[in-house]
Amino acid sequence: MALVECKECGKDISDSSKFCPHCGAPYTQAIGLSQSNKVGKIIGGLLTLIAGIILLIWINFREAPRYMSYELAEKYSDKASELSMFGYLLVGIGIIALMFAAKSKTK
Ligand SMILES: [Zn+2]
Repeated sequence: MALVECKECGKDISDSSKFCPHCGAPYTQAIGLSQSNKVGKIIGGLLTLIAGIILLIWINFREAPRYMSYELAEKYSDKASELSMFGYLLVGIGIIALMFAAKSKTK
């Protein structure tokens, strides 16, 4: 027996009950909610992952503008490595979010 959130009133209800004891909403709606939650988590994880990958590709394929002085170009590459750290972070978060979404049960 597990507790799920009622779609209508947001209170915890048992997944073995057919109706919410608080507001009377049928439990099938609560099932639909938990499934759409999982899809939402997967999409969120994928979007984070894709954003990180796009950021990394963008950093690796662009070049420092030629008019930059040596000093400026150094600062520029410092900024690029900061950005690529952020890109790896996004990819990591996306993968973790996807793993959690895949683990979460759909009942
Ligand atoms: Zn309810």
